[in-house]
Amino acid sequence: MSRIEGNTYYAEPEQPQQCDECGEIEELRPYGNNGACICIECSHIDQEQTNKNIAKFFRKNKIKYVEHMGQRVKLDLTKLIEFIDN
Ligand SMILES: [Zn+2]
Repeated sequence: MSRIEGNTYYAEPEQPQQCDECGEIEELRPYGNNGACICIECSHIDQEQTNKNIAKFFRKNKIKYVEHMGQRVKLDLTKLIEFIDN
């Protein structure tokens, strides 16, 4: 389960849940419009908007670092978006 502690976002695998956009049971992230939880496939429909939502999410939560699988990186939205795509 992903979580925010201080200025760090710990990205972890999520239990599949129903996507707010397409209704499929998938692993979701809160990168839809107005913080909706959406699946990877829906996040690619309008990648530009998704990127804006991701940036908004991190700014709103004052996140400066992302930790994923033991790797801690200083937040760089360009790199973060590449990581989300992989
Ligand atoms: Zn979806």
